[in-house]
Amino acid sequence: TTFDTLGLDPAILKAVSAEGYTTPTPIQAQAIPAVLEGHDVLAAAQTGTGKTAGFTLPLLERLIQNPRQMKARQVRALVLTPTRELAAQVAESVRTYGKNLKIRSTVVYGGVGIEPQKRAIARGCEIVIATPGRLLDLANQRAIDLSALETLILDEADRMLDMGFIHDIKKIIAQTPKERQTLLFSATFSPEIKRLAAGMLKDPVLIEV
Ligand code: AMP
Repeated sequence: TTFDTLGLDPAILKAVSAEGYTTPTPIQAQAIPAVLEGHDVLAAAQTGTGKTAGFTLPLLERLIQNPRQMKARQVRALVLTPTRELAAQVAESVRTYGKNLKIRSTVVYGGVGIEPQKRAIARGCEIVIATPGRLLDLANQRAIDLSALETLILDEADRMLDMGFIHDIKKIIAQTPKERQTLLFSATFSPEIKRLAAGMLKDPVLIEV
């Protein structure tokens, strides 16, 4: 497989080749078509497999294929990560792969002031990358509106459960539309992860690399 055969926009492919990538990794070769087709995905993937581009590239493609006017504080895609470091890393990937697109993104996490994050969301963002606690704070303060969310991505879901984010995640999911697309990435598949996946994914495409 090459990147050109996956159905990604030339503006996305240009950013991918600027990174020096020539061949999709196994998880990318499987996840990109599944996400583009609108399927939910359950993926077992460690760091280093290229999972971030595996969900970011098709996410960007779907957003540009279907431009939409968002109401104030609505967002179209939410990526939840266990730590601020991972959130910042994912946000950097989104910026890199989306650099030729008019897609706005922002990253929010705890331990820093919430007001600049509220302002960033109020200015308008298609994609928000977040840690669960801060995202829930923003939602409770009505600084973000998840009612029009199209895609929800859980990155390193096992670590989020280990860190005790299950209740926050459930409260966040409850604010999103039922007909959303959901992608769940986890290094391990404990009974807890399987339970979470069963409750939030519809007929997921299973990917193991
Ligand atoms: P991740 O597993 O998402 O943390 O990605 C691991 C590393 O692989 C990152 O530094 C990416 O820049 C790099 N990477 C992702 N996809 C590819 C690819 N198709 N070819 C070469 N490197 C890649």
